[in-house]
Amino acid sequence: MVSNSGPIILGIEGTAWNLSAAIVDENDVIVESTATYKPPVGGIHPREASQHHADHLGPVITKILSDAHDRGLTTSDIDAIAFSQGPGLGPCLRTVATAARALSLSLNVPLIGVNHCIAHIEVGRWKTDAMDPVVLYVSGANSQVLAYRKERYRVFGETLDIGIGNAFDKFARGAGLQHPGGPKIEELARSATSYVPLPYIVKGMDFSFSGLSTAASVALQTSLLEDVCFSLQENAFAMLVEVTERAVAHTGKDEVLLGGGVGANQRLQEMLDIMCNERGIRFHVPERRFMGDNGSMIAYLGLLMYRQNTFISIKESYAMPNYRPDDTPVTWWQG
Ligand code: AMP
Ligand code: MG
Repeated sequence: MVSNSGPIILGIEGTAWNLSAAIVDENDVIVESTATYKPPVGGIHPREASQHHADHLGPVITKILSDAHDRGLTTSDIDAIAFSQGPGLGPCLRTVATAARALSLSLNVPLIGVNHCIAHIEVGRWKTDAMDPVVLYVSGANSQVLAYRKERYRVFGETLDIGIGNAFDKFARGAGLQHPGGPKIEELARSATSYVPLPYIVKGMDFSFSGLSTAASVALQTSLLEDVCFSLQENAFAMLVEVTERAVAHTGKDEVLLGGGVGANQRLQEMLDIMCNERGIRFHVPERRFMGDNGSMIAYLGLLMYRQNTFISIKESYAMPNYRPDDTPVTWWQG
C-alpha cells in the first residue's frame, strides 16, 4: 500500500558499478530499478562506468516512473529527489548528480545530497530491528566500523588503503577470475583443505587490505587457489570482526549491523554471529537486496533528510568523491 500522507522520495544511486533508482515512502520501497555495469575484462573503469550510467539513466528512471504509475502514483506525488553525492567515483557521481538536478528542476521539487555510507546504515536500521548498532560497512571501495555518537556517525575504524571488496576483486583478477571476485572467492574457499599463513594487519582501530591481497597473490605460486581464498577470507574477516568487537566494547552498544556488498558473505556473517553470541548482543543482517548498493537506501535517507528540510541548491550539488560519513550532522536521529 502506498501511503498518501508521508513524504514520497525518488532516490538515485550510482557511486560505482550499480546504477539504481527507487521511489520510497516511510513504510516501504514502492519501486526500484537497477542497471549493473559489468566490465568485459579487468575491474571497474570509472569513465566506462559513468558512460554506462549515462546510457541507462533514461530507461531506469522511465521504468520506476511507469511502475509507480501502475501503483497509482504520478510524478506530482514525488516530494523530493535524493542522489548519492559521495563518496564514489568522480565521473559516476557527476553523471548521477546531473540527472538528479534535471529531475529536481523539471518536477520543481527540492534536491537532497545523500552520503552513500550513511544510506547503507539507515537502510539497515529501516529494514532490520537495529536501533543504535555498531555498524560494519564493507563494500568494494569502503570498509568502516561506525557508530552513532553526539549527532554524527563516528568512524571508529576504517581501512588505511583499499576497501576489502576491491582487495578481493584485485586478488581474484590476478587469479584469472572474473569481476566481481568476492562471490567466487567465497565459493572456492568452501573446498579448501588447509590454511596458508597470510598477513594480519590491524593498526589501532584501523585495518589494511592492500598488502594482504598482494601476499595472497604471491601465495598462489606455492598453494592451491582454494586454500588461498579460504585463508584470505579468514584473515580479512578476523581483522574486521576484531575491530568491530572492540568498537562494541568501547561504546557499550548491544547490537551490530552489517552492510555493504561484502556483507553477503556467509563466512563473514558466521564470524560476526559468533562474536555477537559470545558477547550476548544482537546481530542484524538486512535482506541481500539492501546490502549492496541500491537506489532504495538513497531514497530512504533522502526521506529522513526531507523531514528535516535538509535540502541543497543546484550550486551545492557538486560531486563529493571523498565525502566522509562523519562530515554529516545526523539531524534525523531517533535512537
Ligand atoms: P558494493 O560496493 O556494496 O556494491 O559491493 C561490491 C563488492 O562486494 C565487490 O567488491 C564484490 O566482490 C563484493 N562481494 C559481493 N558478494 C560477495 C561475497 N559473497 N563475498 C565477498 N565479497 C562479495
Ligand atoms: Mg556501497
